[in-house]
Amino acid sequence: MADYQQIKSELEGIAVEDNPALVKQKSRDFYWYSPILKAQLDNVVGDLVVSPTTEEEVIRVLKVAYAHGVPVTPRGGGTGNYGQAMPLSGGIVLNLMNMNKIKAIHPGRVVCEPGIIISQLDKELKEKSGQELRFHPSTAQTATVAGFIAGGSGGVGSITWGGLRDLGNILRLRVVTMEAEPRVLELSAWDLQKVSHAYGTNGIITEVEMPLAPAYDWVDVIVGYDDFMDAVRFADALTHRNGILLKEVAPIAAPVPYEYFTRHKPWLKEGQSVVVLMVAPHSMEPFAAYVEKMKGEIRFRSDKVESMKGIPHAYELAWNHTTLRALKIDPNFTYLQVQYPSPDHVAKVGKMVEIFGDEVIGHLEFIKFDGAIQCSGLPLVRYTTPERLEEIIRIHEDNGCPIFNPHRYTLEEGGMKQTDTIQLAFKKETDPKGLLNPGKMIAWDNPDFDFTAGKNYLFPGLQAFQ
Ligand code: FAD
Repeated sequence: MADYQQIKSELEGIAVEDNPALVKQKSRDFYWYSPILKAQLDNVVGDLVVSPTTEEEVIRVLKVAYAHGVPVTPRGGGTGNYGQAMPLSGGIVLNLMNMNKIKAIHPGRVVCEPGIIISQLDKELKEKSGQELRFHPSTAQTATVAGFIAGGSGGVGSITWGGLRDLGNILRLRVVTMEAEPRVLELSAWDLQKVSHAYGTNGIITEVEMPLAPAYDWVDVIVGYDDFMDAVRFADALTHRNGILLKEVAPIAAPVPYEYFTRHKPWLKEGQSVVVLMVAPHSMEPFAAYVEKMKGEIRFRSDKVESMKGIPHAYELAWNHTTLRALKIDPNFTYLQVQYPSPDHVAKVGKMVEIFGDEVIGHLEFIKFDGAIQCSGLPLVRYTTPERLEEIIRIHEDNGCPIFNPHRYTLEEGGMKQTDTIQLAFKKETDPKGLLNPGKMIAWDNPDFDFTAGKNYLFPGLQAFQ
């Protein structure tokens, strides 16, 4: 057992918290979305929360932790869904939220500290330069930019820009290593893959450089259809209209919108499926004309309501906020993360609707993937048993719809990130004692791990780029 009183005294001058209730609170994320992870991770708790304000302080913390052999789990807003920021082996929870300054804004890019809240970053970018991040998670109001990079994948804006996996969507990261004398590395281009979506297992991000897009007063829109597949066909056709600028396109099946989007209920129709959208203001006229052609009903548009007070942003109905809204009212739901590869993504969605009916309720996110429009999905699952959940996953995979399993806490089993020998060699170099977020990388713990298991990964291993 480490001597935490000694560690505290060595960290003098840096904010340290050891109140058990507060440490427990900072040892949690949204793992409870999964009944499987809830059972596995409920008792996970750290020993100390340390909140550095500068890169120098991060280096000091890592040096002390290394000397004492204490694990360090970095943490941003704690909105991850798979226990990413939960300290499986206890130790220090490194809260980066106090490193939250913008360092420089340039045409097309921003340099900032890791712990800035994404919506705050976007607000300042818009005020100061008329720009915004290319895309953000639906948790923009609570998640940090580095937490997104280390734990997320894509989100609102991915219909135009793709995801974090795409070369050019992160420009540069400064990363501190976990060694006796921590080093500061500057990573760019392919090397960013070593750290993006790696759950903070191989370095602490202390500075971020991200590309930007022009900012707009995006209009929130909800379009209704009596049949979910009509909503899906509309969304697919719309995303192929090159002239209409969109930031978000999410078809969501009944009964979810009317039952669980409580603040929007006055505008919604019982039994209808919807498409939740964000449309650039100058695209609204052609957009409305296209909706009419496709026989949809515009049920809500934020530029026409008297006041948006108390009404959440459209993006807070989408991505994993859809799941959150359903779970708040019916805790028996869980969810999956599905890919419906193009070009026959619409047919694949139709097949899943046919097979599962109301047991797996459709929620799609249209995105650009390797240059083509396709959809991923976060369907809601009426949960019964772990065995049935596994069967639902298998049926999807048998029908050509890969699953990124949100009921696993390791990188490899989650299936978004492929670890390989290069990733592992990088970890050996940056974290030789294996103290950064231990337990999250199977390849580290199991030297016989088979990297070539043939799974489909969202963030491919670095060997793919050699
Ligand atoms: P945390 O949860 O605190 O951390 C995430 C991971 O990053 C952890 O492994 C942590 O150890 C690591 N980490 C944090 N900071 C650092 C650092 N400075 N250096 C190294 N590692 C670090 N995800 C999406 O991709 N798109 C979505 O649209 C989306 N929607 C969501 C909606 C809801 C309601 C919820 C609950 C989750 C959603 N997520 C989504 C997942 C999650 O919100 C995102 O991954 C989010 O960006 C994480 O940011 P965070 O600051 O909360 O990170």
